[in-house]
Amino acid sequence: MRLYDTLTRRVKEFAPREPGHVRMYNCGPTVYRRNHLGNYRAYATADLLRRTFELLGWRVTQVMNITDVGHLTEDDVADAAGEDKLQKEAQQRKLDPWQIAREVEGWFHEDRRTLRILDAHRYPRATEHIPEMIAMIEALVANGHAYAADGNVYFSVGSFPSYGALSGNTVEKLDAGASGRVEERSDKRSPHDFALWKHDPKHLMQWDSPWGRGFPGWHIECSAMSRKYLGDTFDLHTGGPDNIFPHHECEIAQSESVTGKPFVRHWVHCGWLTLGGEKMSKRAGKIHTVPELVEMGYAGADIRLFLLKQHYRAPLPFRLELLDEAREIRKRFNNFIRQERPPGPPDSEAADAARARFRAALEDDLNTSEALAVLHELMTTVNRTGAGADEAVRFLREADRVLAILDEPDEAPDAEIERLMAEREAARRSRDFKRSDAIRDELLKRGIELLDTPQGTRWRRK
Ligand code: AMP
Ligand code: ZN
Repeated sequence: MRLYDTLTRRVKEFAPREPGHVRMYNCGPTVYRRNHLGNYRAYATADLLRRTFELLGWRVTQVMNITDVGHLTEDDVADAAGEDKLQKEAQQRKLDPWQIAREVEGWFHEDRRTLRILDAHRYPRATEHIPEMIAMIEALVANGHAYAADGNVYFSVGSFPSYGALSGNTVEKLDAGASGRVEERSDKRSPHDFALWKHDPKHLMQWDSPWGRGFPGWHIECSAMSRKYLGDTFDLHTGGPDNIFPHHECEIAQSESVTGKPFVRHWVHCGWLTLGGEKMSKRAGKIHTVPELVEMGYAGADIRLFLLKQHYRAPLPFRLELLDEAREIRKRFNNFIRQERPPGPPDSEAADAARARFRAALEDDLNTSEALAVLHELMTTVNRTGAGADEAVRFLREADRVLAILDEPDEAPDAEIERLMAEREAARRSRDFKRSDAIRDELLKRGIELLDTPQGTRWRRK
């Protein structure tokens, strides 16, 4: 398997350190507000990796954290300042931040299941790992990589010479560039030092620590939880593009300063999901959520295919036409699988060749568009020759263990739904409302809901 590594900036061989067993950590959601589609691009990429490894016959241990400690707005500077997003939401909605965190975490699981993102083996919550974080901070203070000042504890960036290796943001570059943006705090030895533990009596979540009551910095959460579940060194760490700096840069500094060992063997970051040329984010403007798109009539698998069709590192513009395109592709696959055919001669040659090419495409830095092209070609060949249909269908189902875009075997086929919809439309036109209502009810019984929109009638699975 060849995979781009953000640290060495090249595509390189990926193989787990323990043969046959991949240990992977994915930076997960901050649970203060329902995640948008940009966030799900990061999780769908992690899911694609997991499923590809499993296709290759490897066992995977996958851990995704839940960031449920409130954190500050300026995620792009190592030591964030500004408002606490969870706290702000809690005050606006007059709710306890713990309540909000649990509610949003529930939505996260709901949405990712809609997108057929497999359950990770663990979803550790930051609030349930405070002792592990404190232990790590204590070790950093003891070995001189961190210092306490007025109830805060800071990591001394100058004590870790390779700081900047992942992101290119070395101390020299930070000095030259962003100095105006770095907030000068009197208790810090260097403006680039970042907080491991914070003292702030106004913060709504507080724990006791050797430095007094306070709460952990965001970066130490992932260092502590990944170490607990995956060990000092593990195979793969993923995230979205904005996790590279400061989050992952700081994780490396903390973890390696504690263990003295390499932290992560391979770093994978997806590209941005964009909207109007900018990354999709609440701050940049409009966002789209999974339930909103489902409400518009897209199936979770349509959205999933839209996210996976583009190469994971390329920017992906959010456009409804691209979702429609994904929907059409899925329709072609599903129709092929369900098509009644006159029995043709068995022939596994085309399917076997496709299997090898499909796998090779994924092994080539997750080339999903090539993998999909292989499937399209196979369907075209079978349709033309009439041979090997059973073998092709079997292989498509196998490929779907990675793609997860086919209808479930017991789902009503799209073609059937559309035939009934057309019949209902005709009934309505001839003002036979009894018949059109009966069709609507029949579809409802089969889990299909019809939506009358300005663009015409659409359907969705309930
Ligand atoms: P957050 O909940 O803000 O910590 O974000 C969760 C994950 O989503 C992080 O890995 C982010 O890097 C990622 N992410 C946020 N916005 C986008 C986007 N527009 N495109 C791709 N990934 C994103
Ligand atoms: Zn993280």
